[in-house]
Amino acid sequence: MKLKVYNTKTRQEETIQRPKEGKKLTLYTCGPTVYHYAHIGNLRTYVFEDLFRRLLEFFKLPVLHVMNLTDVDDKTIRGALENHLSLEAFTQIYKDHFFKDLKALNILPAHFYPCATSYIPKMIKMIEILLQKKLAYQGKGGSIYFRIQKIPSYGKLSHLKLEDLKVGASERMTSDEYEKEEACDFVLWKHYDPNRDGAIFWESPFGKGRPGWHIECSAMANELLGETLDIHMGGVDNIFPHHENEIAQSEGCSGKTFVKHWIHCEHLIVDGKKMSKSLNNFYTLRDLEQKGYRGREVRFLLLATHYRSKLNFNFKGLLSSRHALERIDDFVYRLSSGIKQDRGGEKVTPLIEKGRQDFQKGLQEDLNISIALAVLFDFIRLVHRKIDHHKIDLKGAQEVLSFLREMDTVLGVIFFDASSSQLEKLPQEIEKAFEEREKARKEKNWALADEKRKWIESKGYLIEDSPTSSRIKKKESFNKTFFSL
Ligand SMILES: [Zn+2]
Repeated sequence: MKLKVYNTKTRQEETIQRPKEGKKLTLYTCGPTVYHYAHIGNLRTYVFEDLFRRLLEFFKLPVLHVMNLTDVDDKTIRGALENHLSLEAFTQIYKDHFFKDLKALNILPAHFYPCATSYIPKMIKMIEILLQKKLAYQGKGGSIYFRIQKIPSYGKLSHLKLEDLKVGASERMTSDEYEKEEACDFVLWKHYDPNRDGAIFWESPFGKGRPGWHIECSAMANELLGETLDIHMGGVDNIFPHHENEIAQSEGCSGKTFVKHWIHCEHLIVDGKKMSKSLNNFYTLRDLEQKGYRGREVRFLLLATHYRSKLNFNFKGLLSSRHALERIDDFVYRLSSGIKQDRGGEKVTPLIEKGRQDFQKGLQEDLNISIALAVLFDFIRLVHRKIDHHKIDLKGAQEVLSFLREMDTVLGVIFFDASSSQLEKLPQEIEKAFEEREKARKEKNWALADEKRKWIESKGYLIEDSPTSSRIKKKESFNKTFFSL
């Protein structure tokens, strides 16, 4: 069973190689800059990375996952100074929010969350090596830059040509960057500026200052996972310049390939437009929660579009996610509580085997989530039909549930605890009326059955009839609320 995933560097799908016996795949994902709440575009990348990480484990590929937290850069320093807080106190606020978001989205924790500020000696060491190798130089203002000219292969990840980059870089150059030899050289160590940095700086052999963003990831990845990583992930906006620069620095230091497999997740747009605060279409998870949506619904939405396609976010989509999850919840509830038949059911193993095969097949081809979800919902439809015809007994229901659990180790969206607060108890008067309606239907007293149905609906409940049984559900509920008698 091979897992094939698109590699940004080679531009083709490649098999994820199994690690040697007793070893783990090394996975590095670029984490948040903790100066603000993560927006749903960031969260899309994190949810996708989680899907991939879960899939590795599903395919029995052991993995060691590191995700960094960028707690020192221009934005965090500016935020700390503006709020009259220490850098640590300021970034802690957003670290906490970040972990809250991960939890709400049911994202498995990485094995390490290194903070950049804890790895500054390592960054300094790497910069010293780059200086010794003449891959870096000190500008007149005291900052240290990477000399891109020395790396002829620069641009190999983004497939950009150095000549083209030079033109763009000179156009974007800011006034404090004129000390660079070449416009596209990037900063490794930013020289301390009391007007800009307040009292936030670190000592180094090349003067007071702070590291550049790119060297932070190179240093943390190297320290925790070694010189060559199996897999490095991020959003497509990280490809250039961030990941290109990580390669230049890391390979410049070690002389070895930095990353074997690069995987990038596409952008999220909102109603067909770029998400931006000025367009008033900028959302964080908190914004969506305030509108009554839950992390689980957001996760489902972010998950359901293939990672190499742009995801067009809108509230219609979020509502569809809610309904899709309700279908799953109803199914779980029916399996857990609605089956009383203790024998005489059909064998469910062939159905499960087929479902498992198709689910795996979809995901192993570059994480085709549409196939995986179609398999799940087809499976649900088929089993519902069998239950309607009394072909599933208690043992079969347990087998179906354990297959759902298996799929959910990858998807992470299913609630299994039917007795939890997710379910409300059916009020007695409704339960009684529902039973009376059932009885009337059996006796073919359609007028009475209809009258009872209307009364139940007037109380805010819906009845769904199948050829052999009926179920009752609360209207417009956020919770899974299926009652089966
Ligand atoms: Zn990074």
